[in-house]
Amino acid sequence: MKDFVANNKHLKKLVEGNKRYIASHLQHPDQSSERRFELKYGQHPFAIILGCSDSRVPPEVIFDQGLGDLYVVRVAGNVLDEVVMASIEYAVLHVGVSLIMVMGHSQCGAVQAACAHEQLEGSLPALVQAFNPVLEQVKGQPGNLAENVALANVVHVAEKLKQTGVHFLKMFDENQLTIVPAYYDIDTGKVELLSE
Ligand SMILES: [Zn+2]
Repeated sequence: MKDFVANNKHLKKLVEGNKRYIASHLQHPDQSSERRFELKYGQHPFAIILGCSDSRVPPEVIFDQGLGDLYVVRVAGNVLDEVVMASIEYAVLHVGVSLIMVMGHSQCGAVQAACAHEQLEGSLPALVQAFNPVLEQVKGQPGNLAENVALANVVHVAEKLKQTGVHFLKMFDENQLTIVPAYYDIDTGKVELLSE
């Protein structure tokens, strides 16, 4: 995993930003008015983050980044649907971003709801149903169910992105696209990279 990070300058940038965040040595890069002016004519973010809407996991904060750095798609439980896929395809195919991180986290309410099998109102059933494939997959595994589901979900979503994003599989095979599943620990602030 170390070589994998060292060989990808964009992933390295995320890992280093997260280290600064954990150590409380934030640099708050790219947050000046100069940066804002610079971005007037277009964006060139270096990574796409598919993360959870949970207020405790804002990517720009936990990776110590600023304006124009990260293309962020946030949805409860960091699940994938057609509109989320379209947002990511846009960033890969039209903005030219070559790194996608799918980031789950500890204590995720969406995951907990999916594990609890409660009767839910409104559109919430559609969200928890997105976890059905991984719930099936982790059945009988030792350890904490919610953690197992959250971990399995990021790997599942990363794989699904690779397999179903238009041109993604070809780009992945030709090393033009990197897709990394990751898990953020709310207690420590650390983002752990998971192998697929
Ligand atoms: Zn969450």
